[in-house]
Amino acid sequence: MTLIQSLTRGAITRIMQGEYILNPVVQILNIDRVNPTKPDEEQYRLIISDGEYHCYAMLDIQLNQLHHYGLLSENTIVCLDKYTISMAGKKGFGNNQSIIFRLILNELTALNSGDQVQTKIGEPVTYENADTANSASTAPVLRGPEERKQSNNNYNSNDRTLKTKCNALTIPIASLSPFQKKWFIKARVVGKTRKYPYRGGRYFSMNLKDKSGEIRVTAYKEQCDKFYDLIVADNVYFFSNCHLKLANKQYSLKSDYEMSFTGETMVQLCDDEDNVGVPEIKFDLIPLSQVTNMENNESVDTIGICKEVGELQTVTSRTTNKELKKRELTLVDASNDPIVLVLWNNEAINFDGQVKSVILVKGSRIKEYLGHKNLNVGSGSILKINPDTPEAHKLREWFDNGGGNNISTMVSARTGGGSFSTDWLTLKDAYLRNLGSGEKPDYFQCKAVVYIVKQDNAFYKACPQADCNKKVMDEGNGHYRCERCNAAYPNFKYFLKVDIHIGDCTFNRRAICFGQTGEQLLKHTTQEIVEALENDPARAQKIFSDVKFSSHIFKLRCMNTFYEGTVRNMLYVQSINPLNIKEYNGRLIKELIEMTNGTA
Ligand SMILES: [Zn+2]
Repeated sequence: MTLIQSLTRGAITRIMQGEYILNPVVQILNIDRVNPTKPDEEQYRLIISDGEYHCYAMLDIQLNQLHHYGLLSENTIVCLDKYTISMAGKKGFGNNQSIIFRLILNELTALNSGDQVQTKIGEPVTYENADTANSASTAPVLRGPEERKQSNNNYNSNDRTLKTKCNALTIPIASLSPFQKKWFIKARVVGKTRKYPYRGGRYFSMNLKDKSGEIRVTAYKEQCDKFYDLIVADNVYFFSNCHLKLANKQYSLKSDYEMSFTGETMVQLCDDEDNVGVPEIKFDLIPLSQVTNMENNESVDTIGICKEVGELQTVTSRTTNKELKKRELTLVDASNDPIVLVLWNNEAINFDGQVKSVILVKGSRIKEYLGHKNLNVGSGSILKINPDTPEAHKLREWFDNGGGNNISTMVSARTGGGSFSTDWLTLKDAYLRNLGSGEKPDYFQCKAVVYIVKQDNAFYKACPQADCNKKVMDEGNGHYRCERCNAAYPNFKYFLKVDIHIGDCTFNRRAICFGQTGEQLLKHTTQEIVEALENDPARAQKIFSDVKFSSHIFKLRCMNTFYEGTVRNMLYVQSINPLNIKEYNGRLIKELIEMTNGTA
């Protein structure tokens, strides 16, 4: 006759209250597939019983095989060799609030098969119905002296078991302390910096956030290299084995501590089901008009519609003398005060929003320059394009119904990101003022008509690097050399260089539309334009002639270039914006009033 193992009575209550029990013996009452309609997500949920209570437990997918072999059928008695508990959320309110734990079975041994046991042991009731406040004391642990002795022995002699015990628990960030050596936290990455140089290596930081609080963590050198690409902002992970120290209050958040990664640090992505209870990123959105009343360097969460998208610019940092990439977006909202949002480097290069996109930003910084304030997306900022939130939909509806029409981004000369101002000039004025003849380029904007759009040489083969658009030389051996990068690549990208003539009532000038501004002008993607020019002359003809005699607001960069020994004053189109008659007339009327000292 087979010996049927006895169950570890009271085990479930104690486990679910966070206590670690060594090798508890439980009975499987039921096993069920989660998401049976999704073939690639094979996961099983069990109901396990200790004879007094039963509860749900998830089967680690590594153990699915056991079920395939029929080892986990109803009534089977198993020993839990390894299990983990994570916080799955909270229930109740105020003082009655309690944490809901999720039990995951990682390793187990079947002691008696379902066929041997044949029946449910005891009259277990569901754990959720238990009075959790009292059940620990009312559910005495029934263990024989032999069993207890064995358990204690294991406990002291087996270090791995100790580790398992500590790993079994996820604790809230607010209860982290340096005195606690072993823990897990489950947190959302809410701000991830770029990599910075650090003692011959690099480092990055991020903030980790759960319901209880937020803590800053930094990864230096090897840890930076190991984790930088793996950790994605806004994802939820388990973290453990980080080094905890008192926070430097200068940079700290609400937490007393900050952490750094160590060689032992473990980071594990949580799937969506595990994310229950980890708060979504909170945005304290303010209207754009409030920015003017705020202090330089303050952090701003806001949402706006992109009314203008500037072209990618290269600027030199005043402090480090390094070359930086930047792109400016003009955001508007119902508060009637447009603001410039500046994106830097990768964010600027990879920006794929356009006019009318809703832009949500968290943690942008106010920068004041010559009395104008704009917002900068920097390290730790989060930028979302067309987020699926009620605020975004409301804003879009407002804009689609003409809400943005009454907001003029043109009335005054706005500072463009603090480095230059964009004056309104006629083409003749710009010429008479010798714009572009100085060391640095000049910028101005004007309303002009497109007279000529040249089809010839409207694109070239350019360096494939995202932030380099230099024309490449075909080396004839399947490689293309970029002189700026000083490298040869096996591929290239097509890049637009559209030659146009524009004119206003005073003058007309040649101007060049590179890349995105070329696409904007021709209203087609580079791909489509190149395709048409190469294979479909009629279509190309139409794309190019459709633009003729259209009026736009052009922002132009004016500079001298040296070409074959001669100096040429060139205009480069920085952005093309649709002409809004009402807005434009508003500007003309304002100018008239100024010219006539308000007597008009
Ligand atoms: Zn290049």
